[in-house]
Amino acid sequence: MENLTIKKNDTLVVDIIDLTYEGLGVAKVEGYPLFIENTLPGEVAEIVVIKIGKTFGFGKLIKLQKKSLDRVELKDKQLTATGIAPLQHLSYSGQLAFKQKQVENVMEKIAKMPEITILPMIGMEEPYGYRNKAQIPVREIDGKLATGFFRKNSHDLVPIENYYIQDPKIDEAIKVVADIMRRFSVKPYDEKENTGSLRHIIVRRGHYSHEMMIVLVTRTEKLFKKEVICEQIINELPEVISIIQNVNPEQTNVILGRKMIPLAGKEYIKDTLMEKTYQISPKSFYQVNSIQAEILYQTAIDFAELKATDVVIDAYSGIGTIALSLADKVKQVYGIESIKDAVIDAKANAALNNIENVKFKVGKAEILLKEWADEEMHCDVLVVDPPRKGLAKFFIDAVLEMKPKKMIYISCNPATFARDLRLLADGGYNIEKIQPVDMFPQTTHVESIILLQMKNS
Ligand code: SAH
Repeated sequence: MENLTIKKNDTLVVDIIDLTYEGLGVAKVEGYPLFIENTLPGEVAEIVVIKIGKTFGFGKLIKLQKKSLDRVELKDKQLTATGIAPLQHLSYSGQLAFKQKQVENVMEKIAKMPEITILPMIGMEEPYGYRNKAQIPVREIDGKLATGFFRKNSHDLVPIENYYIQDPKIDEAIKVVADIMRRFSVKPYDEKENTGSLRHIIVRRGHYSHEMMIVLVTRTEKLFKKEVICEQIINELPEVISIIQNVNPEQTNVILGRKMIPLAGKEYIKDTLMEKTYQISPKSFYQVNSIQAEILYQTAIDFAELKATDVVIDAYSGIGTIALSLADKVKQVYGIESIKDAVIDAKANAALNNIENVKFKVGKAEILLKEWADEEMHCDVLVVDPPRKGLAKFFIDAVLEMKPKKMIYISCNPATFARDLRLLADGGYNIEKIQPVDMFPQTTHVESIILLQMKNS
């Protein structure tokens, strides 16, 4: 921006006028936007300018001169600095309103369908301690093995013990495992040099089963005194029924490497969801918020108004949780999932629950759906639950060729579902209603379920 008079390190008093999708407060100085962590609309903040970019900059809060009525006390400022809980300063009702408004915004601005019914977001009674999984980086701090989380946009580890949004039993397990690793002088991973050993500790705990899995991600296969380490973990954490080593030799941000080495106990844990039992392996996706996942699935089932004669496709089926939750109500279900281990889990899960009318296929949803459409397969209800990038254009073309009467779109990204709904509406679908469900309290993530119906069907 030309003629901008503010510079880095300036201190200013600004009015916060908006909140971005990432949860940053927005101020405008001479028309130039500044983004400031831990501030809310309506607040007046004393800030220091920490970065000046071409079209926007960043400020850091020094002191609030006026507080928002929606502000609540921080649990721990590191939860904001690391991005674990970027909305922790906003009251829970404020968070729900913020997310609701995002869905309204994308429906108006991206989908261009401001008239669609958006039901009030379903929140949690206790919006903390909900995560059933944690992936915690391990690094060296002051010569010692430390666990915590990276400061946002960096790879500096901030030590954290209470993560607040995770099952407290998982927080405790991370501490215990890290202690044991220190006892055996396991070397923390050094990212710059690609040396050392332990990169991540991953913990999963079944919300209902309380079965716990520990995955130790190491750079090489070598792990001195593996057996004794496992013995001590099981001794000190009696819920642990599975310990797995994962080897990741690459200099990469990707957490898991290819090689899985079972160290002790089973290769998966089990948990229940909607009264069905599931086996979950380390590489498989499993909804991290079990309480809200049941609400999500129940809403999907209610929206679908399933009939005993229906043929359903569950695209992006993971370990089969949606397919198996609705199988009892319909004639046949087909699941599509790209990760082979997840499909192995899904098939085992069908057997585990004595469900015989479900078939799971490994493959890309866009490719398989197109094949099935070309074969003129009949489908009454199509359920999709894609990753953040939403549906591929190719997938939408296949949907419009197959023309299922109903579609249930489960989305974790409002921007991409709005883009996709526009295309589906142009292709002949009515958007009936949208139900947002808060799966990730204290964070900026927004989950929604959308019911679509083919016109004239
Ligand atoms: N419906 C499941 C999983 C949803 S997560 C549940 O609720 O638990 C999305 C899933 O889509 C992941 O399991 C991921 O592995 C899978 N996936 C990602 N891209 C895919 C693609 N192109 N085709 C098929 N599956 C894909």
